[in-house]
Amino acid sequence: LIAYLNGRFAPLAELSVPVLDRGFLFGDGVYEMIPVYDRRPFRLDEHLARLAASLAAVRIDNPHDEATWDTLVRTLIARQPFADQSIYLQVTRGAAYPRNHAIPADSTPTVLLFADPLNPPAAALVEQGVAAVSMQDPRWQRCDIKTTSLLGNVLARAASVDAGAVETVMFRDGLLTEGSASNIFTVKDGLLLTPAPSTRMLTGITYDVVLELARHHGVPLQIRPVSEAEVRAADELWLTSSSKEILAIVSLDGRPVGNGVPGPIYRRMYGHYQQFKAGEMRP
Ligand code: PLP
Repeated sequence: LIAYLNGRFAPLAELSVPVLDRGFLFGDGVYEMIPVYDRRPFRLDEHLARLAASLAAVRIDNPHDEATWDTLVRTLIARQPFADQSIYLQVTRGAAYPRNHAIPADSTPTVLLFADPLNPPAAALVEQGVAAVSMQDPRWQRCDIKTTSLLGNVLARAASVDAGAVETVMFRDGLLTEGSASNIFTVKDGLLLTPAPSTRMLTGITYDVVLELARHHGVPLQIRPVSEAEVRAADELWLTSSSKEILAIVSLDGRPVGNGVPGPIYRRMYGHYQQFKAGEMRP
């Protein structure tokens, strides 16, 4: 499996970074996960724009311009043995000594990319939906940054792992924020509802695609704060992410969502999403 670290391509197992890397010591870094279908990166420009925004937010100089990133990603894709991939891309602030919270003036960012085989959600998950649990959002106030500091997300996900569920839906101040690694949509009486981008959530690339598809296909839509009570009374609940695409959440904390099966708006949107993906994959 060929990966990329700081200017060179090499087998992933042969790569290592210094223990003084601030990514290791402080979680001082940002990342992206880019899905690749049939060797074509999905929404690469949008992922690179979000990467640039994350880097700017944490004051790491972007080590590459967009054209260089584009070439790096496409070179990595070409060197994998499988066609459907998930590209993991991470930039940390790099190594600095002595250990000190203060941002070093002169560290060199560490750039890492590697690929995994991408497996879209199994048909059974799409057909039957998935279980989720909920919890109070334990994270910081800058959830809009796609940072490798993910302990809040990791602990949130642990709650659903404990329950044998697929995702943890989080609330803050009585309002829906997002999932541990996904954005959340609800449907009530045919109206699609989701929170607006804010510092309380990561704006997913998939979230943006779903909003575009809703507008394009005339699905009634409101982007506004969604209360915990609205989530619990929803007819449909969905999660979206680059790896899970769109999945219907059919039970929340052990109680059925709506009829307890994926709803009609979900089925429609899932179809639109697959069609859209296929369109993007044409050369
Ligand atoms: N929110 C969080 C916290 C995430 O980690 C992710 C992705 O992993 C998302 C939302 C969805 O983002 P995207 O659709 O870009 O994968």
